Amino acid sequence: MARINENYLNLMESYLFSDIAKRVHAFCKQHPEQEVIRMGIGDVTLPLVPRVTEAMHRAVDEMGSKDTFRGYGPEQGYDFLREAIVSYYDRIGVGLTAGEVFVSDGAKSDVGNITDLFGRENTVLIPDPVYPVYVDTNLMNGRKIVYLDANEQNGFLPMPGDEQADIIYLCSPNNPTGAVYTREQLKVWVDYAIRRHAVILFDAAYEAFITDDRLPRSIYEIEGAKRCAIEFCSLSKTAGFTGTRCGYTVVPMELVLTVSDGQEITLNKLWNRRQTTKFNGVPYIIQRGAEAVFSEEGQKQIRENIAYYRANAKTIGNTLTKLGIPFTGGVNSPYIWMKCPNGMGSWEFFDFLLENIAVVGTPGAGFGRNGEGYFRLTSFGSIDTTEEAMTRFFNLLK
Ligand SMILES: *Cc1c(COP(=O)(O)O)cnc(C)c1O
Repeated sequence: MARINENYLNLMESYLFSDIAKRVHAFCKQHPEQEVIRMGIGDVTLPLVPRVTEAMHRAVDEMGSKDTFRGYGPEQGYDFLREAIVSYYDRIGVGLTAGEVFVSDGAKSDVGNITDLFGRENTVLIPDPVYPVYVDTNLMNGRKIVYLDANEQNGFLPMPGDEQADIIYLCSPNNPTGAVYTREQLKVWVDYAIRRHAVILFDAAYEAFITDDRLPRSIYEIEGAKRCAIEFCSLSKTAGFTGTRCGYTVVPMELVLTVSDGQEITLNKLWNRRQTTKFNGVPYIIQRGAEAVFSEEGQKQIRENIAYYRANAKTIGNTLTKLGIPFTGGVNSPYIWMKCPNGMGSWEFFDFLLENIAVVGTPGAGFGRNGEGYFRLTSFGSIDTTEEAMTRFFNLLK
C-alpha cells in the first residue's frame, strides 16, 4: 500500500491570492466601468533589458549550430556565470570562489530544496510575517517551527532571544515588510548562530534594491558569516527574470557541521551532492542572459529599471507620509508595508480600497499572524498607474 507523506496534511491551504482574485473579479463584474489598479502583485512588469536579450539571442544561435551546440552543462552552472557572480561579490568586498556559487533556476527552488540537507529533528526559527515558502517547505518535512515576532516594536526586524533554534531564516530586505537589517543587527544574528552551531538561511532576493551604503547587501559582509550562513539570490526582481528563471546560492567552504560520530561535514560538498543528483542545471541560453546582467552595460540597464520601481516606491511613501500613515520599506525595498488606518483589519482595508477607489493591495494577514492590521503595496507597477492610484488613495483618506 502506497502511503503519502502525511506531513503534507499539515500544510494550510493558501487562500490569499485566490481570495484576492475572487474579490477583484466580483468587483469588476459589478463595476465594469471602473479601472482597477493592481498594487498587490509581487511580479515585475518591465521587460528584460537589451543587453540580456542580445546575449540570449546569440546563445540561441550557438545552440542551433553544430560547432557551438551544447548539451548537458555542469549542474552547478557554467564557469563564465559563476565567475561573473564572484566578481559581483568582489565589488562589496566579499571574496568567494566559483566553487562556492551554485547557479539555480531561482531562489524559491533552492530555499525549498536546501531543507534536504538538514535532519528532521532540527528546530527552525522563522520570523512572522514571512515569505510563505520557508514555513511550508519545513512543514513538508515535519520539522518543528518556532516563530519570531516581527512587529512595530522591533521595527519588523526581530533579534534573537533565548530561542533554541538550529536553522534560522532571515530575509533582508524583507518581503513583505521592506525592512532591512543593519550590519550591527546581522552581526548579533551571526554570533548567535555560531554560538549555537546553527545555520542561517539568508534570503537576499532584494539586495539590488538597497540604496543606503551603510546597509549590508550580503550576509558575508559580516565577520564570521561564512562559518554559519548560506545565501540565496535571484535575478527575478533584480533583472526581471521572474519568467526567465535564474538565481544562485552561495554555500561557503568554511560552513562545516559536526555529525553524530564526530565527523565534520562541509555543507558545500553536501549541497553539491544533492544538486548533482536531483538537478541538471540551468539552460545555457538563460545562463548567457544572466552573465550579461553582471556586465557593466547590463548593470547600468538593470539599475535604470530598479530606479523606475524606486520612483514608484517614493510616490507611495510620500503619499503615506502626507497622510500620517506609519509604514516600513519603500526606500531600500520595492515593498511598502503600511499600517491600516483607523484600526481597520487587513481584509477590511482591502475591501475598503477596492470598493471606494478600485485599488488592489495585499492584506498583511496573508503573511502571518503579525500581519493582521497591515497591508502590502508594491512598486512593480507602471509610473502612471501608481501615480493615479496614489491620487485616489490620498483623496479617499485625507
Ligand atoms: C521573489 C522572491 C524570491 C525569488 O524567487 P525566484 O524563485 O528566484 O523567482 C525569493 N525570496 C523572496 C522572499 C521573494 O520574494
